[in-house]
Amino acid sequence: MSKIREILDNLSTEQYKMMIGEKSCQPLTETFSKKRVVHPGANGQMVPPVKQQEIWLEYMQRKGDKSKKKAVYIHIPFCSQICLYCGFFQNYSNEERETMYVDRLIKQLLMAKEYRYVQDSVINAVFFGGGTPSTLSPYNADRLLKTMNEVLPLANDCEITMEARVHDLVDEKLQVWFKHGVNRISVGVQSFDTAIRQSMGRKDDKETVIENLKRAASYNQAVLIIDLIYGLPAQSLDNFVNDLKIADSLPIDGMDLYQLNVFEQSALKKAIDNGKIPPAATTKQQAKYLEAAISYLDELGYKRLSVCHWAKTNRERSMYNTLAKSGADVIPFGSGAGGFVGDISMFLNRDLQCYMNAIDEGKWPLMVLTKEAGGKVLFKDIQAQTENCMVNIQKLAQVYSEELLQLEEVLNIWVEYGLFEKCGHTYKMTIAGQFWQNNITQTIIELTQQLLMGKKSFEVQPIAAQG
Ligand code: SF4
Repeated sequence: MSKIREILDNLSTEQYKMMIGEKSCQPLTETFSKKRVVHPGANGQMVPPVKQQEIWLEYMQRKGDKSKKKAVYIHIPFCSQICLYCGFFQNYSNEERETMYVDRLIKQLLMAKEYRYVQDSVINAVFFGGGTPSTLSPYNADRLLKTMNEVLPLANDCEITMEARVHDLVDEKLQVWFKHGVNRISVGVQSFDTAIRQSMGRKDDKETVIENLKRAASYNQAVLIIDLIYGLPAQSLDNFVNDLKIADSLPIDGMDLYQLNVFEQSALKKAIDNGKIPPAATTKQQAKYLEAAISYLDELGYKRLSVCHWAKTNRERSMYNTLAKSGADVIPFGSGAGGFVGDISMFLNRDLQCYMNAIDEGKWPLMVLTKEAGGKVLFKDIQAQTENCMVNIQKLAQVYSEELLQLEEVLNIWVEYGLFEKCGHTYKMTIAGQFWQNNITQTIIELTQQLLMGKKSFEVQPIAAQG
């Protein structure tokens, strides 16, 4: 009996349903009962705090490799309001605090300038994420972007993304960003519907959203991407498709579509439980929203760049996302930022004061440093494939281990379940497979851990609280 068959036979009925799913005539809504979280770096070894600085510096004194693509992530942990659905809020915007924070970010960039690893590198993508990076005043954005350009060895075609909220797409901010080379703006629109936006804590009405997006596009200096969410409370399927129509009518270069997750401890869950706002769409309903979006955008000729990202024009490359999800090094800056360098991954101090104190003491502001066990690159490669809505086990087996070929037995089960179609050696996700991409990815990672590393446990963490 093959090892994979043995593993599958030893799963309890509950584990089998969670990992492999169930055959159904409606695979889009019925294969799994819940969405799961992907843990691509499981099995790492935490470095004790007293050793963190020494290990970090050891990696940073190593020679870099110009030929390897790399990215930088810069975190701005401030928001002017808390959006009801968000699990990432850190601090309220406050210009005085932001100025003190940007002072430290500049110091952190200057520290990095001294590292041999950074000096020897070429950076292909910089991503300002948050929080809300666009909240920074023109003064703070100006000095931060200026330092970034002076300090980091940016590639000639480096993608520099600013995550922005609609409210900040004003001339005095846009001009500063463009002056310093920002060439991609990713705007959190979430919904064009005024009532839905405002019930989620977003200030601007539909007309302002459209006007501000047009203003940003009129400079013709940057790729313009918008995020939309499906499954929001009070958002009907027609309402969501209408959002897609409005988006398509605007001068954008692409869009990300995210399903709403109602996190257990979130303000949104409380508001729904208290009857203040209607319930969000269930997971099964969300599947129908994604199905509608895929067929609508396919019809319009949008190009699928990843499972949740579509390009409308060939200006959009989505370089940062591609690098971050395919195992490239990502150097993190700022309070709450995360990254990877070689076989170590790290999170920087999430507490603002701890972050600033560490910088003032001349330390890299590490909160967690993990040495990844073997397999991190393989897991990232698996994730990179499923992000592209496909799996090619032959390719993985050629690079890593012949044993992986056994995973085709599971892929063949999923073909039978309607999650994949087989084209040569490539398994392409159907729409149902795309909707259950997280579950598929996590199962392949867990089975790979069992096959190659003998790991026995399985994650049971569902992604969200809604039914
Ligand atoms: S602006 Fe973004 S990070 Fe801030 S609360 Fe809203 S969704 Fe969360």
